[in-house]
Amino acid sequence: MKKKLIALTMSVLMAVSLSACGGGSTKDTTAAASTAEATTKAEDTTAADAEVSTEKAASDKVYKIATDTTFAPFEFENDKGEMVGIDLDLLKAIAEDQGFEYELVVAGFSAATTGLEAGEYDAVIAGMSITDARKEKYDFSEPYYDSGVGMAVNADSDIASYEDLNGKTVAAKIGTEGCTFAESIADQYGFTIMQFEDSSSMYQDVLAGNSVACFEDYPVLGYEISRGTPFKMPLDMEHGNSYGFAVMKGENTELLEKFDAGLKNMKDSGKYDEILNTYISK
Ligand code: GLN
Repeated sequence: MKKKLIALTMSVLMAVSLSACGGGSTKDTTAAASTAEATTKAEDTTAADAEVSTEKAASDKVYKIATDTTFAPFEFENDKGEMVGIDLDLLKAIAEDQGFEYELVVAGFSAATTGLEAGEYDAVIAGMSITDARKEKYDFSEPYYDSGVGMAVNADSDIASYEDLNGKTVAAKIGTEGCTFAESIADQYGFTIMQFEDSSSMYQDVLAGNSVACFEDYPVLGYEISRGTPFKMPLDMEHGNSYGFAVMKGENTELLEKFDAGLKNMKDSGKYDEILNTYISK
């Protein structure tokens, strides 16, 4: 009963969160389907975790950590169907170093933050930018990767500037800095934003020619292009923020301290560079 309520609360929060970044029109089917999926996943893992916590003492806590679905090279499904990426490798190495256990929940970005706020998850690692607005609600680890927003268009597109977006539709992912940036310049350049729940559907909309561009983190778009997606980035990276591991403000302080201690150890030992080099060639 309680779980149902939480799931219901999440759906309501999700619906509200659609207006958080612009409240632009959302592809109903995509958003509704991913929301339902994310809600079910959250419910499943709650049940699983409840069993774990009755069996184990409090000191053996299994932290529930949420991540995004498609945000390569930080988290994505590889050819073998495994979730891999810089965030996930880093988290694994830090957990081993600091001796804590966790369960990874592949929720999607907005579902991860909504679930964190609803108390469903203990933390989020999802290429999440440390911003002043977010610092009001969350506590962040030390920054672990510098990033910023970029604009991608189809490789054969004529769009070369923000001015060229006038009267057109662009795609962005709900609740992200890419979406917030697009929103901040939408009126000035006269374009409309279509919001998507996940990066894959956002990219598809551009490839299909419905949206003429998408706004997403620059290194993620760069990685997408290097993997063969026929996009190009006509403009430089917009100033952005570094990524951090997030917990709710004042909560899970112990986990945050362990993350920071582990991150430092990974940087000192060279493991951090090793993980980065696995995914990003210099
Ligand atoms: N870095 C961006 C943000 O924090 C996007 C994160 C993501 O899409 N996983 O808003």
